[in-house]
Amino acid sequence: MNGSKRKKVIAGNWKMNKTAAEAAMLIENLIPAVKDAECEVVILVPFLNISTAIKMCEGTNIRVGAQNCHFAESGAFTGEISVPMLIEAGVEFVVVGHSERRQYFGETDDSVNKKAKAVIENGLYAIVCVGESLEEREAGDTEKVVGKQVKAALFDVSSEHIGKLIIAYEPIWAIGTGRTATPEQAQEVCKFIRETVKNLYSDEIAENMVIQYGGSMNPGNAEELLALEDVDGGLIGGASLKADDFKAIVDAANVK
Ligand code: PEP
Repeated sequence: MNGSKRKKVIAGNWKMNKTAAEAAMLIENLIPAVKDAECEVVILVPFLNISTAIKMCEGTNIRVGAQNCHFAESGAFTGEISVPMLIEAGVEFVVVGHSERRQYFGETDDSVNKKAKAVIENGLYAIVCVGESLEEREAGDTEKVVGKQVKAALFDVSSEHIGKLIIAYEPIWAIGTGRTATPEQAQEVCKFIRETVKNLYSDEIAENMVIQYGGSMNPGNAEELLALEDVDGGLIGGASLKADDFKAIVDAANVK
């Protein structure tokens, strides 16, 4: 059982899904479904759905986030969205370094670090994703890869701002594949991440840090994963697109 005082964070990453009408319908169903949640409930929606999501979630316990940002405040970066723009829109969370962005959009450890700093130094929460590929796991390199990503993401992040940073452990081989990490694998790596943070900062900072698991979490496996000592929530892709499934995961996070 997770006996810590860390409040769990269940965040739904919608990825590039939901038209405006579909987004509104999903949020309408989610609001009553998760209203009694004891965990934090976050929806990470496409940029164009942010304004609808913020309006609809006002006065509810659902918090709204974006799936990416640029690290600069403004400038000649065609097609990009800055942190100040997200703040103006009312966003509270930003996903940084999702493996799909690392894989398809050239995100590097360096850009992840710059984005994470831009997000937390401006007062928003950054959900920084780390995780190994199947080849890396099979080669026995999981800790080496994840440790390097965590250290790079936290480079030059001050103790003053670290409280706004959440790390999501997302093994790449488990994302969108239906293949979930075993509870042992999830706990082992989340614990390793906490140890890494402890070595970089302090016991207290490591103990307070929210570390999520992500990768094919669903209503059937959520309770077991969310009960793990070092797993403080979930980053959920596919199962966040249906209100019933997302509610079931939120309920699983509420189980003591
Ligand atoms: C994700 O998008 O971060 C994710 C974990 O996706 P899925 O739950 O679909 O594996």
